[in-house]
Amino acid sequence: MPERVAIYPGTFDPITLGHFDILQRASKLFDRVIITLAINSNKTPLFSKEERLEFIKDAVKNISNVTVDSFEGMLIYFAEKTGAIAVIRGLRAISDFEFEFQLALMNRKQNSEITTVFLMPNEKYTYLNSSIIREVARFGGDVSSFITPLVAEKLKDKFLK
Ligand code: ADP
Repeated sequence: MPERVAIYPGTFDPITLGHFDILQRASKLFDRVIITLAINSNKTPLFSKEERLEFIKDAVKNISNVTVDSFEGMLIYFAEKTGAIAVIRGLRAISDFEFEFQLALMNRKQNSEITTVFLMPNEKYTYLNSSIIREVARFGGDVSSFITPLVAEKLKDKFLK
């Protein structure tokens, strides 16, 4: 049987334990998961591409079937290049649904062989997103239970020095 590969794309600015939860679930369902930074020139992230990749690599270092990559441009072209059969996305609340639904159907239109798979994180992460982490950290709040120790350290460097 060919290897069953999924990609998990996102901005990961920065990666949170919500992302990590989704990634762990996906890694049990597929032979290999590629967590991939989607470089979007319309967004101005807090952390550089290199920093975000460093945080992701550190977070996934103990999951043997996860690799890390990045791409620019069309998600589906990247998925095709890697031979992926699925695109993983996280669904937290109904508010995620509308945009994710549009994206999934648009991607299916581009390549009907690649299926979007939605996974739900543990309830404790359902209200979590990277922008809330950035905002709370900016004002010195404690976000350490939602991120990896490395990200916690780098957020402190960014805002509290
Ligand atoms: P994007 O800009 O592609 O939405 P994000 O880094 O914000 O990038 O999110 C990547 C994926 O992870 C999306 O599918 C998003 O719904 C999901 N996600 C983000 N935060 C969480 C969370 N706390 N729990 C589960 N899924 C999440």
